[in-house]
Parts: sequence; C-alpha cells; structure tokens
Amino acid sequence: MTDCIFCKIIDGEIPSKKIYEDELIYAFEDINAQAPVHFLVIPKKHIKSIDDIDTEDENLIGKIFTKIKEIAKAEGLDNGYRVVINCKDDGGQTVDHLHFHILGGRSLNWPPG
Ligand code: AMP
Ligand code: ZN
Repeated sequence: MTDCIFCKIIDGEIPSKKIYEDELIYAFEDINAQAPVHFLVIPKKHIKSIDDIDTEDENLIGKIFTKIKEIAKAEGLDNGYRVVINCKDDGGQTVDHLHFHILGGRSLNWPPG
C-alpha cells in the first residue's frame, strides 16, 4: 500500500515521533494532539479499518491491547486514558490504516459527540 501515509510512517518515508516499535506494532505521537498525551498505535500489517479485521488477525489485535497498556504506563498515564478507534466515514476515520488513538493527561469529556 504505497499511498498509505501510515505505511509510509512505518517505513520511515514520512517522519514521525516514534514512541514504540516491535515486529508487529508501531506507535507514534499524533500530529494534531487532542490531549496532553495523544499517540497512535498501529499494526505494521495494512488493515484498512475495524471492518477489515480477519480472524487471522485476532492474535495481533489482542497483542496491540497488551502493548497499549504497557506504552500508556511508560507515558505516565497512571490516572487513566481513553482508547478510540474511528471506523469509516460515520466513525470519523480519515486515515485508512487501522489505528488506536490513546488519549490522556487530562480528564476527558463523555460522551464525545
Ligand atoms: P482518524 O481521524 O481516526 O482517522 O485519525 C487519524 C489521525 O492521524 C488524526 O488524529 C491525525 O492527526 C493523525 N495524523 C495524520 N497524519 C499524521 C502524521 N503524518 N503523523 C502523525 N499523525 C498523523
Ligand atoms: Zn497502511
């Protein structure tokens, strides 16, 4: 997927502020932070959205949540945080590579609207 900006970030073609990387996962700061701490966790595999997750991805998705917990702790989010996944147009998804927003560092409003 050469025209995917998140694949380009993983490949280093587009610069990013990396927070974490392993063989399956990449995490980096969101360029338009909506909270004092706002980073994105993405699978290195190009999966377009939640709607495109296959059963063969179940281990990967589970591992992402384990890593989210670890990275959140490393980023100092001891008082809690929010994980957001926007899915397709009505969900507000603007980048078609599955990504998990992690937001924290302040008390967040609910409902999001
Ligand atoms: P979504 O609207 O859920 O698809 O979220 C896409 C997110 O990607 C937004 O919060 C953007 O600010 C963020 N974003 C877009 N381009 C970049 C980039 N080059 N580096 C970091 N974050 C980005
Ligand atoms: Zn991609």
